[in-house]
Amino acid sequence: EISSCDDLTGLPQEEIDKRNSLGYVETTPIRESTCDNCQLYLPPTAKRKCGGCQLFKGPVTEEGYCTYWAPQTD
Ligand code: SF4
Repeated sequence: EISSCDDLTGLPQEEIDKRNSLGYVETTPIRESTCDNCQLYLPPTAKRKCGGCQLFKGPVTEEGYCTYWAPQTD
C-alpha cells in the first residue's frame, strides 16, 4: 500500500506551521532517532493508518523526525 502519511490536506495552517517550526521531516537525518521510537509518537490505530505526534495534528511517518525528538522511557 502506498503511504499517504505526508498528505496534509484539510489541516489548519497553524498546525502545518507548528510542525514546520519544530523542524519535522518525513525522513530522519539521524538514523537511530525516529518518530517511531520517540516518546511523543502516537502509533497508528484502527481508525488512523498513519502515526501521529502529541505536539501537533496530522500524520507523521515512522521514519520521521523533529527537533523535539525524545527517547522513550521504560
Ligand atoms: Fe516525531 Fe518530533 Fe513528534 Fe517525536 S516529537 S513523534 S520526533 S514529530
